[in-house]
Amino acid sequence: MVKYRVVVNRDVCISCGAAPVTCPELFELGNDNGKNRVTEKYSVETDEHLSIGIIPPELYECAMNAAGVCPVSAISVLKLEE
Ligand code: SF4
Repeated sequence: MVKYRVVVNRDVCISCGAAPVTCPELFELGNDNGKNRVTEKYSVETDEHLSIGIIPPELYECAMNAAGVCPVSAISVLKLEE
């Protein structure tokens, strides 16, 4: 099944809030430093610098929309083969 890897570069995120508004299933501003992160449900690794998630195809468009609105290009989405 095809899955996608989502990476948020929290070092460059400016906490504008656009990603969580655009794709709330997948993104939220963290309680730790106020920067965007992948939600607990989809996160496989999150620290103060990076937040990495694995998502199903149903969330691909949502993730890409959030990546598209990010003013600092902090979100990347990569296809994984499994
Ligand atoms: S859109 Fe970009 S800068 Fe804004 S909260 Fe999301 S990752 Fe951070």
